[in-house]
Amino acid sequence: MTATLCEKSASFIDEAKIQEILEDARNYRSQRVRDALAKARKLKGLDAREMAALMQVDDPVLLEELFAIARAVKEEIYGNRLVLFAPLSIGSLCKNELNQKALSQDEIAVEVKSLIDQGHKRLLLVAGGSCPEKEGFDSILRVINTIYQTRSGRGEIRRVNVNIAPLTAEQFRELKAAKIGACQLFQETYHRETYAAVHPGATKRDFDWRLAAMDRAMKAGINDVGTGVRFGLYDWKFELLALHQHIRHLEEQFGVTPHTISVARIEPAAGSAMALRPPHVVSDPDFKKIVAILRLTLPYTGIILSTCENADTRRATFALGVSQISAGSRANPGGDTESLNGHDAEQFQPGDHRSLDEIVREVAALGYTPSFCTACYRPGRTGADFMDLAKPGLIKEHCGPNALSTCTEYLLDYASPETRRIGEALVNHNLKYLETPVRNIACGLVARVRANQRDVFV
Ligand code: SF4
Repeated sequence: MTATLCEKSASFIDEAKIQEILEDARNYRSQRVRDALAKARKLKGLDAREMAALMQVDDPVLLEELFAIARAVKEEIYGNRLVLFAPLSIGSLCKNELNQKALSQDEIAVEVKSLIDQGHKRLLLVAGGSCPEKEGFDSILRVINTIYQTRSGRGEIRRVNVNIAPLTAEQFRELKAAKIGACQLFQETYHRETYAAVHPGATKRDFDWRLAAMDRAMKAGINDVGTGVRFGLYDWKFELLALHQHIRHLEEQFGVTPHTISVARIEPAAGSAMALRPPHVVSDPDFKKIVAILRLTLPYTGIILSTCENADTRRATFALGVSQISAGSRANPGGDTESLNGHDAEQFQPGDHRSLDEIVREVAALGYTPSFCTACYRPGRTGADFMDLAKPGLIKEHCGPNALSTCTEYLLDYASPETRRIGEALVNHNLKYLETPVRNIACGLVARVRANQRDVFV
């Protein structure tokens, strides 16, 4: 870590500016909100003041207008698909916390095989700890290799994304060389004082080092990065505006916005005073507002939802903007409590442990197409190349057909009879009502899968 990088990178979170914008938004007018919504409906995103105006909305009529526009934007860009991935937590990277059992490659292979046998194709490798030692980091590279090498029947993990502690630029380069997909790293809270309170041993440099991690990742050539906030630690309105500053900084520096944003609320859990009594509890209505405002602000950025959320919240946020969820049984070779969101695992309640089959069935019954697509990473359609397709709306021609082909693959190879019945009805319905030329592409892909081909995509 260099002091120069830390000092420079920290400057893009301007707390005074955020407070000024929040203060200004207290006098919001409904016309200001409607103007922002009209802009967002054209998929032009929102600036910080427009976001802040939307945050103040509590009038039920205006709130419903906000939600309706978010639903329309979600529908226009993402259609009815929902990407599913499996989290695999392998414990800490810190040398003094290394658990040899956690890092046994044989055990990893067994866990991965079990995820493949459930039908997973996308995996999120979650490696915790804040001090990645060489030994721990090297083992992560071996784990990634093991995952890609593991096969079971015709199944395989086609893409490994990672959720990892802040690394050095050289480590990010090694991670890129290991052929990861996206790299997630959450700031947890953008409020410096709160960060220090949550991490009692942390120095000022830890906050800045974490904040600059995305810059190092992008400079190392990882152009799909994921960020996120653990809502509940500090005022969610501050966090959203700080997240916006972070994203604008990355866009100015590298020309791309993050690939995904993860949204998670602190869940009550034993062993953590902060988690037992979150200082800024986010209510269900505010959580929906967070998802809707993010969808309108960053129409082309994926939103990942924690499966800790209850069924009602999941349903509502799928419609408002969520595009990815984790699913399926956890794999937990490290012995830690699973972290679906990459947060310090043992402090938080584990999430939804229903089987992948149950989750696919629920998602399909709600009318969403469960997608196991990994297509973009394969030909290197990432970063700016991805955004070039996403912004004119062309990515839909890939996502929709790939969702239907990978869903069909899952239904034929792994689903229970009931899930297959519900899923196939959904696929057939979609094939019937999709617009051409997407319909033709989708029909072609699904026909190839039904004819026993696998891993077909556009
Ligand atoms: Fe994601 Fe690309 Fe697949 Fe669309 S086509 S779901 S953007 S990997």
